[in-house]
Amino acid sequence: RKGNVVITGASSGLGLATAKALAETGKWHVIMACRDFLKAERAAKKVGISKANYTVMHLDLASLESVRQFVDNLRRSEKPIDCLVCNAAVYLPTAKEPTYTAEGFELSVGTNHLGHFLLSRLLLDDMKQSDFPSKRMIIVGSITGNTNTLAGNVPPKANLGDLRGLAAGLDGVNSSAMIDGGEFDGAKAYKDSKVCNMLTMQELHRRYHEETEITFASLYPGCIAETGLFRNHIALFRTLFPPFQKYITKGYVSEEEAGKRLAQVVFDPSLTKSGVYWSWNKNSASFENQLSKEASDTEKARKLWEVSEKLVGLA
Ligand code: NDP
Repeated sequence: RKGNVVITGASSGLGLATAKALAETGKWHVIMACRDFLKAERAAKKVGISKANYTVMHLDLASLESVRQFVDNLRRSEKPIDCLVCNAAVYLPTAKEPTYTAEGFELSVGTNHLGHFLLSRLLLDDMKQSDFPSKRMIIVGSITGNTNTLAGNVPPKANLGDLRGLAAGLDGVNSSAMIDGGEFDGAKAYKDSKVCNMLTMQELHRRYHEETEITFASLYPGCIAETGLFRNHIALFRTLFPPFQKYITKGYVSEEEAGKRLAQVVFDPSLTKSGVYWSWNKNSASFENQLSKEASDTEKARKLWEVSEKLVGLA
């Protein structure tokens, strides 16, 4: 049978390119988990994914209630789930004030981390039951959360501190809207959320890889400078960023190429190692990359896991 893969945020950018790359293999049915149903349908049509190879299902990661409903709907469809790709994200670099999810968590961390944290935890059970030969759970990371890189050293740098803001509810009322308890900074909130994504992947690996044989992985697909991720940035940035990445940093990668890379992490038989953060070199060859000190801190990963469980209502 075909494999069933859930991709969050498959309505644009990397998620859409990955959906297309997987559908084209003829071996995957893609469940596009998107907040805007119509946009996702139109996007699938526009890039030419054939109707037989995808289903759009509603998922708004900025609402834990929606995450739970999505999982219920998925279970009702009785499709075995073989792979989950946590790809969706929001990036709000110019926001002066924090905005919030349905449950009142700062929006970037609430969507990118907490929504995916609950989703991956709930779908673990479903994936355990699948008889697919190589089951994988992937959370898209980023270089920007890794302070051991040049890009990760552009201020404001990611830093979760002692998680005091998150532990206090990240609601901007009783606590700071930032994980470390500091003042709100939209760009930093995004980077922090990506550190959470990478820590969560490793903690999933430590807790569940042996028992479930699921491969847990994260990746940095390269700088996809033209995606919707930068839609909230100032116009000048959006004009200059792609050529800057192409000609100066040379980290630029097209949506299509990035989609192929993520698709590789979904099915390539040589990428079955669990607990790995994949990157690609100039020749587009994959390699196991090093995470920053904070993004590989096992103690922080455990603490983040416990605090997140409480916030999403699993503990
Ligand atoms: P896009 O903005 O193009 O895609 C993000 C997707 O997330 C969209 O489909 C968007 O939906 C969806 N999304 C946002 N909020 C929610 C929500 N509340 N519920 C459900 N879906 C939501 O950006 P990219 O393709 O660039 O980003 C994809 C991933 O790649 C992210 O994890 C990002 O951190 C990562 N990444 C991107 C890099 C880059 O250079 N672009 C580099 C490194 C990592 P909608 O279409 O409705 O807006």
